[in-house]
Amino acid sequence: MKYQDLIQQMTLEEKASLMSGANFWNTKPIERLSVPGMMLTDGPHGVRKQGGKADHLGLNKSIPATCYPPATSIANTWNQALLEEMGRHLGLEAKAMEVSVLLGPGVNIKRSPLCGRNFEYFSEDPYLAGKCGAALIRGIQENGISACVKHFAANSQEHLRMTSDSVMDERTLREIYLPAFEMAVKEGGVKCLMTSYNRLNGEYTNENHHLLQDILLGEWGYDGMVVTDWGGNNDRVEGLKAGCSLEMPSTAGKTDRQIVEAVKNGSLDEAVLDERVDALLNLVFSTREAVSQPTFFDAPTHHAFAAKVAGECAVLLKNEESILPLNSKQKIAVIGDFAKTPRYQGAGSSRIEPTALDNMLSAMKKAGADILGFAPGFRRMGGKSTRLLNQAVELAKKADVALLCLGLDEGSEAEGADRADMKMPDNQLTLLRAVKAVNPSIVVVLSCGSPVEMDWDVDAKAVLHGYLGGQAGANAAADILMGHINPSGKLAETIPMSLADVSSTPYFPGREATAEYREGLYVGYRYFDTAKVTVKYPFGFGLSYTTFAYSDLVCTEDGVDFTITNTGSVSGGETAQVYVSAPKGGVFRPEKELKGFAKVFLAPGESQRVHIALDRRAYAYWNIQLNDWAVEAGEYQILVGASSRDIRLAGSVALAGDTAPNPYEADVFDVYRTGRVHEVSDEAFTAILGHEPPPTLWDPDAPFTFTSPIGQGVCLKGGLGRFLYKLVKFCQDVLFFFGDKENANNLMFAMNLPYRGFARMIECFSEEQIHALVRVVNREKGGWRAFFRAGREKNGH
Ligand code: BGC
Repeated sequence: MKYQDLIQQMTLEEKASLMSGANFWNTKPIERLSVPGMMLTDGPHGVRKQGGKADHLGLNKSIPATCYPPATSIANTWNQALLEEMGRHLGLEAKAMEVSVLLGPGVNIKRSPLCGRNFEYFSEDPYLAGKCGAALIRGIQENGISACVKHFAANSQEHLRMTSDSVMDERTLREIYLPAFEMAVKEGGVKCLMTSYNRLNGEYTNENHHLLQDILLGEWGYDGMVVTDWGGNNDRVEGLKAGCSLEMPSTAGKTDRQIVEAVKNGSLDEAVLDERVDALLNLVFSTREAVSQPTFFDAPTHHAFAAKVAGECAVLLKNEESILPLNSKQKIAVIGDFAKTPRYQGAGSSRIEPTALDNMLSAMKKAGADILGFAPGFRRMGGKSTRLLNQAVELAKKADVALLCLGLDEGSEAEGADRADMKMPDNQLTLLRAVKAVNPSIVVVLSCGSPVEMDWDVDAKAVLHGYLGGQAGANAAADILMGHINPSGKLAETIPMSLADVSSTPYFPGREATAEYREGLYVGYRYFDTAKVTVKYPFGFGLSYTTFAYSDLVCTEDGVDFTITNTGSVSGGETAQVYVSAPKGGVFRPEKELKGFAKVFLAPGESQRVHIALDRRAYAYWNIQLNDWAVEAGEYQILVGASSRDIRLAGSVALAGDTAPNPYEADVFDVYRTGRVHEVSDEAFTAILGHEPPPTLWDPDAPFTFTSPIGQGVCLKGGLGRFLYKLVKFCQDVLFFFGDKENANNLMFAMNLPYRGFARMIECFSEEQIHALVRVVNREKGGWRAFFRAGREKNGH
């Protein structure tokens, strides 16, 4: 231990006091021993330092900071150097605001396009998510402060996020849901890691010995600090034992007392506490110097940098008849509410108060476009308006090009609530069709952080998916439309034809007790390519105003070399992707998997030789019998592509492989061999798990516990539990009725909150009161009496 001497001077109470927050965002100091407190703040795509009232839902204002494009967008850049530079900018701002730990990046896997928080995550692919996360972390931490990778792990739905149990087999965990965290640790050197709210295979991740002890601290050799998600602590002592040092936010000393008690009664070894304190002190002192130096950042310079990043995030999906780029001689009708009021980030704890905000209308003028006029065209929050529609159609009639700024509203992509579907709002599609009837020269710019069903794209000549561009996104999009920037973004996730096509759709979200990951490894293109499902736009796809040729492939076991040439007439950037396809017939594997990529920028006619290294892991799968990575013998296809469905060069390497047993010989695994995982039977799921899955529904006869969520009240016939559930539901319905989707979604937080949250996060109740309240919910005799008694005790009577 690094701080053994200091720890030895602390009393047991002092050590325990360090293990939870002083308030919402700071840790406690010990003045007697000159141990300072430190500040942790959201994250991930800007600094959300709250000066006044604090919250973890993005409700109260924070100090203005640069709002960079969120993870969902920056993953499209496939540009690690750029992300590292963005990390340096983010870290500098955090340092200037005396923030020691910036809470991000989030590297969870996009299992379903519906996850409400996908905009905070990078990709459906663990390798790409890991590379992006690690780059950002390196940049942030170069400033001497710490990043905090989150939410560890298997946290891919918002519904019941604080109680849901993610049930999956070990191989899926290892190959899909953990590698991005592993890269954050090993390649990013991250100094802080946040556990997730959910359970994994029965245990809260924050108390999960397999996850924290065996894998994180053991196999990966992580030497940073572990923190809970805000309000995510379940059992403080168990969390500590598993490896979590810090509980956030403050619990007014309640859980510190539990730690002291546990040491005194022998259920917690004080040496374990000392180790957790050591990890915390290490983080406090290693970031101290950085946040003590007076630091400034220049907001306009950072705004300009945010525009540069956004310029590589947007993905050109379609460009018929080369309608793009536009020119200054064309008369352009700018249509759509999003043109004037940009949609540039998601809702929830990541919401940044921007230092400036660009919009498309003025950005297009600045970029040299001849704007004929502007019409909002539709009501942003949905609903019909013939007046707005007609105005837009009239304007479009007179224009050479109709630029339609469409997207999802603020309430659609939010922390705490998953989307119900992948549809674009009806009123926007009606507008698109009406404009098409009078002017076929339509360019659509989409603003949303996740895929939408896009059968409507036949009505547009060009579609630029701007994703969520951050505060300077509009400038970047306008520069792309006018040809000042050549688009180079490529999709970090597949855009399926429809939600029904997605592999997890039959199982997503887990509605009650568990979330069953029956589709296993087959997430995103791993599924679409293996099961041969047609997609709208494939993973890795994105157009440019120029063209690229690939040639001269040389493959060895250790890597590939090839040449890319810009064969068009303008400079541009290209991301080449290397996929590995394992030999058929043995252990089941996805059709192909991304194992490397490189982005190059080339002038017209210019060529570059590209080298991409491949290590053993590029060929390996997780063997559950060896409990280790294994490589099968045979011939591996090496595929170099401009997207996952546009393979330009192919070679192969023969590997001797290891002698490892194939754990999947039995017929029951056929469904995983074919990859057609829409109907994984109970038998197959049991076989892959190695045991019966736990009941996925709540047992209506089982009593409520301290950890039951408010929403579980739906199972009750009456009483307090049912009343609380109904109350939250009623408030939500009222908010939806009045079109306040954003706050209605925020109420999902209450619906998903376990009863324990009342004691820990809303400090008006003691834990004893909540235990008594649970007895009332269970209609036990004496519950109310116990509640009032606990109340009197709390108030010291
Ligand atoms: C989120 C975290 C966030 C924390 C603090 C939680 O609700 O899950 O991602 O960092 O709040 O705001």
